[in-house]
Amino acid sequence: MPVGVSVRSAGRWLTATADALANILLPAGCRICEAPLTRATRVPVCEECLASFEPLPKQICDACGVPLPTFGGADGLVRFCPACQTKVYAFGRARSFAHYDRALVKAILLLKFERIEPLAAWFAARLAEGIGREPDKLGADVVVPVTLHRMRQKERGYNQAELLAKPLAKRLKLPCQPVLLVRTRPRPDKRLLSLEERWTSVRGAFATRPGTKVDNRRVLLVDDVLTTGATLDACSRALREAGAKSVIGLTVARAIRDPDGGPR
Ligand SMILES: [Zn+2]
Ligand SMILES: [Zn+2]
Repeated sequence: MPVGVSVRSAGRWLTATADALANILLPAGCRICEAPLTRATRVPVCEECLASFEPLPKQICDACGVPLPTFGGADGLVRFCPACQTKVYAFGRARSFAHYDRALVKAILLLKFERIEPLAAWFAARLAEGIGREPDKLGADVVVPVTLHRMRQKERGYNQAELLAKPLAKRLKLPCQPVLLVRTRPRPDKRLLSLEERWTSVRGAFATRPGTKVDNRRVLLVDDVLTTGATLDACSRALREAGAKSVIGLTVARAIRDPDGGPR
């Protein structure tokens, strides 16, 4: 028998054995839909749930990344959303992996409250793929996670944005600076805030740590969800004031509002 064939069949046997072991060792099931996990992976979410995340479409605002209507102007091409035409944001560009919807809402909760690092690493791989599709527009020198107020971080024990930023920086072979930004004012309960109030509540709520430098560097700012853009905007302002050359916001999820104003 040719060597290649026996190596392949041994490989198949090993995969089958690993999957069988996974059934025994991972009796808890998918953390989103509770279906049994049948593959050997450290990500405690089934293939179906991972495949159900809905990536953003190709036609997005070149600046903030919000999906644009598929019909365009006279030439069929609208490059910027209304907010970016009036330059609302302090970040140069923002991109997200998928719609903040259904299974992804649950996955983000797992990141926020259960510190599931293999899931964060899976998302980091998706974010890196997104950057790989637009290398000219999304180039960066340093990865910085959006920070929590220290009281919040103490309560939670970790920062979910840092969980994403570290494996992302590793993939991109860039330094990660988790302590560059500080949140100087705690976040009020978002559920009690209108969209307007969210903007005013984060304005000036972030600063760079005294003594740190971002001089002339292009920052990749990482967070879990982009809702109004207010948080990324406030962080970007602080980074630009500290000398950052540019800021690109990168989030796993993006909340898309319907024209009637409710979250999608
Ligand atoms: Zn599932
Ligand atoms: Zn835009």
